Amino acid sequence: MPEVQIKVINEGDFFSSPVVSTLITIVLMVGLWILLMRKVGGPAGGGGPGGIFNIGKSRAQLFDKGTKVTITFADVAGLDEAKVEVMEIVDFLKNPKKYTALGGKIPKGALLIGPPGTGKTLLAKAMAGEAQVPFFSMSGSDFVELFVGVGASRVRDLFKTAREKAPCIIFIDEIDAIGRARGRNAIMSNDERENTLNQLLVEMDGFAGDAGIIILAATNRPDVLDTALLRPGRFDRQISIDKPDVKGREAIFKVHLKPIKVSQTLDIHKLAEQTPGFAGADIANVCNEAALIAARKGKDAVNMSDFQDAIDRIIGGLEKKNKIISPEEKEIIAYHEAGHAICGWYLEHAYPLLKVTIVPRGTAALGYAQYTPKEQYLYDTDQLMDQICMTLGGRASEDIFFGKISTGASNDLQQITKMAYSMVTVYGMNDKVGNISFFDPTQENMFTKPYSEETGKIIDEEVRKLINKAYVRTKELLIAKKDKVEILAKELLTKEVLFQSDVEALIGKRPYEEKKLLDVEENHTEKKQADKGAVSEGVPPYDSGITIPSLK
Ligand code: ADP
Ligand code: ZN
Repeated sequence: MPEVQIKVINEGDFFSSPVVSTLITIVLMVGLWILLMRKVGGPAGGGGPGGIFNIGKSRAQLFDKGTKVTITFADVAGLDEAKVEVMEIVDFLKNPKKYTALGGKIPKGALLIGPPGTGKTLLAKAMAGEAQVPFFSMSGSDFVELFVGVGASRVRDLFKTAREKAPCIIFIDEIDAIGRARGRNAIMSNDERENTLNQLLVEMDGFAGDAGIIILAATNRPDVLDTALLRPGRFDRQISIDKPDVKGREAIFKVHLKPIKVSQTLDIHKLAEQTPGFAGADIANVCNEAALIAARKGKDAVNMSDFQDAIDRIIGGLEKKNKIISPEEKEIIAYHEAGHAICGWYLEHAYPLLKVTIVPRGTAALGYAQYTPKEQYLYDTDQLMDQICMTLGGRASEDIFFGKISTGASNDLQQITKMAYSMVTVYGMNDKVGNISFFDPTQENMFTKPYSEETGKIIDEEVRKLINKAYVRTKELLIAKKDKVEILAKELLTKEVLFQSDVEALIGKRPYEEKKLLDVEENHTEKKQADKGAVSEGVPPYDSGITIPSLK
């Protein structure tokens, strides 16, 4: 083989010396970067809209003269307490002198706290509509970009534009995207986000209260926000917006039914009763879906059954009539759901059953039992125990009637595991562990448990004991009511859907006096006030969703 010689080319050439060529590359890149950043951060920006040179511009959507906000408080149903607060802020905007004359400082911002779809954006928009001022809307995630410095630059730009348009309202949705607590955890810290947050704080401090700018922000995770954001002079007002109760839902239905041609017999109150746990956005969705369903059927008005279908659809995804389930499977599902239903019926503190069905929906549930949750914020041990038993009812029933268990209860088991761990480690409901709460809202301590290994063992043991106890109790109950489970299951197999009234006709009234809605309503506001702390600090005993989906 001929020898291959590798020759080093142009050893003496200045430009290809490795040191020099690296240097040149660095200089070129730095130059490019400086050029870019100048364009990005520069006052005028440059380039066409959406181009790379606009990257530092805020992406706020502006509703102004031409596209005036036409939404008013009349479009926002329920949320009465929140509306009062917000109206006051509108007054600050309109008559700042009235407040400053007496030496008062006008708040600069308010934080709207609540789950998604409850009308936070709507309320902010209505505020702008009422005040007749421009409205800047953007999402916290709009600030976040791959490039360093862009977020801060966008914040700067947003406030600059806002100052030109004052009086105006700035609305930042999902503020937690930028407002998360800074650098508590070195691994998860994020310089770019921190810079953005710092810039926001600087801007908020930078204008006086009477500058005519009000900043509203929305989040459903107030617990993860950096405390600096909540200090006086920033978002010092917090307005909490909850999912609507039955009265609120009725009001929201009325708003969204306005443009829809409904039949004379439509019972709006009933609709509200059948949609516990729905947020405003879900209700808007139901109304629209019902109209589409009725149109598809060629009706000239939307009636109750269309709404029923729409509600089912929203709850469980699209109905899958032709999903093939073997008769044996169907039987298991029926007994599983009947088990849940019977537990709900005979356990005093369980939620009263609303409806149980074995019609498969979407990809998730093969059947489900739906309950009416009470509007409740505090739960005692008995109540949580009953909830756990009710959730175990499906598996226990399978066990009793078929002598074997299926994978169908996995979702149920996830829920009760979560609940049981919460009882032991968050709510201090276990004698052995004691009155200790390891609740960590930021969940930053994923890797280090806040308790010793020994305590960990005790916790696991106690959770196991609790669940076993609940399971034994559930089985005892279902064995005692075996005939009733059978009746419901058989009926489910033929009818597929059973409502509360059907169940009542089959097995008799629920043995517990149901608290009249009025009583609940009366105590409601008072209680809410008193328990505020408990509500915002704790997590609900379990995801307070309305359905207990099962048989995944
Ligand atoms: P959020 O900002 O809290 O996630 P949105 O304000 O975007 O929720 O609400 C989405 C939609 O849901 C609204 O556009 C409206 O149609 C409907 N909606 C929510 N809450 C209400 C309410 N209280 N009254 C009337 N409609 C509502
Ligand atoms: Zn189940």
